[in-house]
Amino acid sequence: MAKMMKTFVMKKIGEVGFMEKPVPDDPVANGAIIKTTTALVCTSDVHTVKGAIGERFDHTLGHEAVGIVDRVGHAVKLFKPGDRIAVNAITPCYKCHNCQRGFPSQCSEPLGGWKFANIKAGSFAEYFHVNDADANLTHIPESVSDEAACYTTDMMSTGFKGAENADIVLGGSAVVFGAGPVGQMAAVGARLLGAGQVIVVDCVPHRLKLAEDYGCDVTINFEKADAVEEIMKLTNGEGVDSAIEAVGAQLPFEMAINCTRPGGTISNAGYHGEGDYINIPRLGWGVGMAEKTIRTLLCPGGSERMTRLLRLIENGRVDPTKLTSHHFKFDELEKAFWMMDSKEDNVIKPVIHFE
Ligand code: ZN
Repeated sequence: MAKMMKTFVMKKIGEVGFMEKPVPDDPVANGAIIKTTTALVCTSDVHTVKGAIGERFDHTLGHEAVGIVDRVGHAVKLFKPGDRIAVNAITPCYKCHNCQRGFPSQCSEPLGGWKFANIKAGSFAEYFHVNDADANLTHIPESVSDEAACYTTDMMSTGFKGAENADIVLGGSAVVFGAGPVGQMAAVGARLLGAGQVIVVDCVPHRLKLAEDYGCDVTINFEKADAVEEIMKLTNGEGVDSAIEAVGAQLPFEMAINCTRPGGTISNAGYHGEGDYINIPRLGWGVGMAEKTIRTLLCPGGSERMTRLLRLIENGRVDPTKLTSHHFKFDELEKAFWMMDSKEDNVIKPVIHFE
C-alpha cells in the first residue's frame, strides 16, 4: 500500500479540511519531491476556496512553502535528497512559447506559471511535487531561516515585482495602495530601488504602523483623508512618479491613476477578483494622452530570482519575518486559513510549521 500523508484541502467551494492522500512517489525525470518544513497561508488560498478558479474537489491548497528535497528525477542535476530548498509559488516549464518570450509566469497560457493548488497539488501537504526542479528550486543560504526564506516564494517576489514594474526613479516619489503583505514588500522594494519618497495608503492602523517600521516615509489613512489630495500635496501638486496597486479593487486602482504624474507608471500587483470591468478615470488618465503606463504582473518565479531575493535577506537588506503575525502547527492550519479570510486578530501572515 502507498505511504500516506496529511494534506489540507479545499473539499469544495467554501469548505476546507484535512485529508489523507498518498505521498507522491514519482518525481518524474525533471521533477522533485519535497518534504515540507514551513509554509505560509496566502489570501489567494482563500480566493481559491471561494471559487476564484471554479469548483474543485479535495484539492490540496498552498503555494508558499520551503522544505527538504526528498527525491529527485534522474535528469535533475543541481539538487539532491537532503538539500534545504525554497520553491517559488510559480513554477514555469521554461520551454513553452510564453516562457521563451520572457513571460514565464504566463507559462503556456495566461497565469499558467501558477501550478500549485491550481493545476497540480499544492504545498499544504507533508510532501509535494515540483516540476522542472533545476529551474524552480533554490538552495537556502545557511544564515537564512526557513521562515524568512518562505517569504521569497510569493510575498517578496510579487511585492518587489510590483516595485520593479513601477519604474521607480532614483530619488523619485512612489506610492503603494494597500499595506497587506504584498503592499509592504512593494514599499520595501520601492525603497531598495531608490525611491526618494515612499508613501503607503491603507485604512488599517497596525498595517500602516508596520509600513513605518519598514521605513516608508509617509502613511495615509484613506478613511481619514482624501488620499489623492494628500499625495498631490506631498508632491507639490505634481503627483508621484510611480504608483503600485496592491489591493485589487476599483477604488485604489483609480486613485493610483489619479495620483500619478504625466509620464509616470502605474503598476498593478493586486488580484482583481470582482466585476467584469475595471474602469480607468478618463481625466486622471490624461484623456488617454498623458503617457501614463499601466503594467500588470504575476509573481515571478525561477531559481535565479529566488537566489537574488534570498541574497537580500542574507545581507540584511530586508527582514520579511516582520510580516509574521502568528505561528501555527500544520494540524492547526484550518484556524490560520480562516484567519486569512476574516483578518481577525490583526493577522498579516500566519506561518505554518510542519515539524
Ligand atoms: Zn501567495
